[in-house]
Amino acid sequence: MREQIWRTRLTAARRERARYTPRVRSLCLFVTALTCIACSGSDGASARLPGVAGTDAHTDMDSGAGAGGADGATSSVAGNGGVAGDQDLGGGGALDEPGVAISRYDYRLDLASREAESTLTFDVTRSGSGCVNLKSSLPVRDTLAPLGFELAQRADELALCGSFTAGNAVQLSTKQTVIEAADPKTQVGFSRRPDRANREFSYLLGWLEQCPRFGPCDPAPQRLTHYTFDVSHATADVVLCPGVRTFTEGSTHCELLDTLAPSYSSFAIASDSGWARTPLVTAAGVSVVLYDTPAGSLYGGLDAASFGDFLEWLTQLLGPYPYGDELRVASAPTTFLGMEHPANIVVRDDLTNLFVGYSNVPMHVLLHETVHQWAGNRTTLSSTLDYLWKEAIAEYLAYVFEDERRPFPEAMSARSLWHNTGLGAPYPIRPLTPPPLPLEDWAAGGYDTAPLALFVQLEPWLGRPAVLAAIQLFLRDPVARSMDDLRAALETTSRLELANYFAAWVFGDEPVEWPVVSATVQQTGSEATVTLTQSQSRGRIFPCVIDVELKTANETAVAHVDFGLSPSSTSAAASVVLDEPVVSVSIDPERRVLVFPAPAAAAAPAAPPTRLAPRVPFHP
Ligand SMILES: [Zn+2]
Repeated sequence: MREQIWRTRLTAARRERARYTPRVRSLCLFVTALTCIACSGSDGASARLPGVAGTDAHTDMDSGAGAGGADGATSSVAGNGGVAGDQDLGGGGALDEPGVAISRYDYRLDLASREAESTLTFDVTRSGSGCVNLKSSLPVRDTLAPLGFELAQRADELALCGSFTAGNAVQLSTKQTVIEAADPKTQVGFSRRPDRANREFSYLLGWLEQCPRFGPCDPAPQRLTHYTFDVSHATADVVLCPGVRTFTEGSTHCELLDTLAPSYSSFAIASDSGWARTPLVTAAGVSVVLYDTPAGSLYGGLDAASFGDFLEWLTQLLGPYPYGDELRVASAPTTFLGMEHPANIVVRDDLTNLFVGYSNVPMHVLLHETVHQWAGNRTTLSSTLDYLWKEAIAEYLAYVFEDERRPFPEAMSARSLWHNTGLGAPYPIRPLTPPPLPLEDWAAGGYDTAPLALFVQLEPWLGRPAVLAAIQLFLRDPVARSMDDLRAALETTSRLELANYFAAWVFGDEPVEWPVVSATVQQTGSEATVTLTQSQSRGRIFPCVIDVELKTANETAVAHVDFGLSPSSTSAAASVVLDEPVVSVSIDPERRVLVFPAPAAAAAPAAPPTRLAPRVPFHP
């Protein structure tokens, strides 16, 4: 999702303000660690619960034997079983605990009353007695569980306990009332707002670990499952829900029964009686249709033919569109720029009038959200801490298309935006431990740092084809992927060792520090040699290739200063041929690297580096 973004040119005043208030651009992010509750099994014995799991989606990626990775290994989530308790299963004495996974949600909602009914189907792969854990922020009632099973709710924890038999599916049904309340910053929850035509827009919006707002579920981001949605609504309402959609008067049905999907984006129901359906383009076997109010400007703000080209290009790279043959794009009064539900994209209804830094906001947002159908929906996150790979891929693939097939300013604007805003990122791209603040806060700025650090900065060494091949490999399967899986994929396709690079740019538990560089130029005859020196305060030397533009009265040359993937020196140099005296030096003029000129680099036109303070103490 590309979130609420007040992307601006960082004026001095705004930059100063941003020093202490990192912008919240991420839409909707809540991080609540799922904790396993202890309860008594049917025999009354207190036991660590095996937990409930959806299809455990993580599999090791082909590591490319001999491909140059450090060890070719990828991190792996433990096998089938628990949200919390997996580590205990193999420890002896727990072999009778069941292997249970949610395979399907059937969710009913009456839009007017917000009365909801959830039916969860559990697949049992290993017989045993015990409990599976669920989350529900709502009190459940009228519960229906198999004979002999007991369901207990304590606060937002639900435990279904009984004797599970391998091969026998178990179903649990509950009723609950969805609360009409949404987070004011992210819109996550259930909300009603007037649209631009003053009709009512209703939105049940989930997010990472937020499905308990709507009933019993497993909120772990790595779970991929099937879903059906049945929505009862007023006759005039146009209702969108994820997957293959059918509707009759007053009722809309959606199915996600072919390709698996995660809960973070699948719990989503949007309704607006003012929406009219308008075909945009058909390409790559996908019919793209817009849902906008008659006064809306989305259709006029999009280049339909170009988006069709994008779908052809994207499906050649990532495979067929995963969610049927229709992609619906709805314009609505949302807080965020766009959100990626399977087969549905919801975008903000004033995209055509927003200045957020992109040269073409509506097109960029649509490209970005479309990539999420593969990056985030079909292939999900191993953990919330891995959040930024999906945003980086969405940004980067949109950028590559812009760079190769769209007007020049679009790609340049994306890089400038990433560079300028990335300076304010408060946290590493992939924190090693959970930051003490919500996802939308720690990930602020990561939308910008991640596409540069994970992809654009690697292009000089790997080449763009190898970077794209790595993304293709990484997203090949409907599983959960981690940031380290992405490193492994990049190593596989490039045959380069990237552990040191990722340690410098991606992983971390300290406040973010980016390289600060200064340049000196020496000329001998017709050769000009530029030397760059990194001088960031903590002393880490960053692997990077930095372009330096040298200008004379009549010539321009670009030196590519390569510090290498495992630099040992704070300085690196490169030479170019110039017959006249150099009169100006510009470091990274095309904004391809997260480096910032030191104040002493007087010839550099960019603003001096600014250190942003985290909004809360870093690991107090
Ligand atoms: Zn996104």
